Amino acid sequence: MKIDTKLLHEGYKPQKGEARQLPIYQSTTFAYDTSDEMGKLFDLESSGYFYTRLQNPTNDKVAEKICALEGGVAAMLTSSGQAANFYAIFNICEAGDHFIASSSIYGGTYNLFGVTMKKMGIECTFVDQTLPEEELAKYFKPNTKAVFGETITNPTVTVFDFEKFANLAHSHGVPLIVDNTFATPVNCRPFEWGADIVTHSTTKYMDGQGVGVGGCIVDSGNFDWTKYADKFPGLTTPDESYHGITYTEKFGKGAYITKATSQLMRDFGSIQSPQNAFYLNLGLETLHLRVKRHCDNALAVAEFLNSNDKIAWVHYAGLKTDKYYDMAQKYLPNGTCGVLCFAVKGGREASIRFMDSLKLASIATHVADAKTCLLHPASHTHRQLSEEQLIEAGISPDLIRFSCGIEDADDIIDDIRQALDKI
Ligand SMILES: *Cc1c(COP(=O)(O)O)cnc(C)c1O
Repeated sequence: MKIDTKLLHEGYKPQKGEARQLPIYQSTTFAYDTSDEMGKLFDLESSGYFYTRLQNPTNDKVAEKICALEGGVAAMLTSSGQAANFYAIFNICEAGDHFIASSSIYGGTYNLFGVTMKKMGIECTFVDQTLPEEELAKYFKPNTKAVFGETITNPTVTVFDFEKFANLAHSHGVPLIVDNTFATPVNCRPFEWGADIVTHSTTKYMDGQGVGVGGCIVDSGNFDWTKYADKFPGLTTPDESYHGITYTEKFGKGAYITKATSQLMRDFGSIQSPQNAFYLNLGLETLHLRVKRHCDNALAVAEFLNSNDKIAWVHYAGLKTDKYYDMAQKYLPNGTCGVLCFAVKGGREASIRFMDSLKLASIATHVADAKTCLLHPASHTHRQLSEEQLIEAGISPDLIRFSCGIEDADDIIDDIRQALDKI
């Protein structure tokens, strides 16, 4: 099946007489006849549902769909994108470990990695992702366990050089983890370019209507944990909290997701509600249509802004003049995303005046949904970062993040034009 068809037919596959749409299993618990049946589930001796904190059939069908879209072997839903990125790293890193992340990533992830995970004894080095491979290699240490980046960065919309980072990660015996939120598997499938694990904030395009916060982790099954067994004892040595199960021995290519579910979800409990998983599935059914429209609109808006003399600069990898155009053509030939960033001449004050004059586009701490919205990272999402950290993350104080919805492009452009007239 092509990806457009998979969006509708992967995951839940109704049998004779069953509901055609994915049922919502709104239940905390699942019933069994004998205590032995239940015991086997707890021991991971048989598979089945017993408590929604660990697994729920509605969630699993949606995870299965996203897994098929990305071309992975196993996947899990989480309560948010933050939880997905936290689990993705914490599943293979513990106190005393180190990992490398691109410095151009979502502000929430930057804080999670740089501040909160540091308190857990896990150190993250943020690197300039444009550095050549030999420079980046210098940041690896004996205790480095992973490399992390975003396909298209939020909010600076730069494009990740998969081949460079996959080479680096693999030549140092660690997996490459990529947050594919902005591209979605419709525009880019990181596993095809060497990534080992993919994460998503499904809150964005996948949901698409801004109704539910959620996340997802997908494992390609390609990383051989046993080849670097000493680096990943959590996967390759017995888990005392599961009667001595060794995940790689018992679950093979399913080891990573099984461990994340049975350990991390059990202990941290960041499960997505089945109701939200249902909404997410509805969103996925039209993802291909929406992503195309988002991209067409963003390109039209980027071209308009690029030729307007009140605009200081525009970044959108779909523009032929953009620094990331060639990289985007290589990794995302069908389009990048509906988000672009730009600055209005006159600095921070002019930007704020412009934003406050918009009528159709709303100022929202959101991005990548059906209705056009925008925000000013330096005053909103990234306000916890110092001026120095903002610059390190590539965010200038005048940057406006503009998320094109699926309205008519002319209406979006007219709104921008009238707001520019006010400054
Ligand atoms: C929004 C976002 C996140 C965080 O996701 P939540 O669902 O808000 O927790 C992570 N990564 C990227 C790229 C995002 O855009």
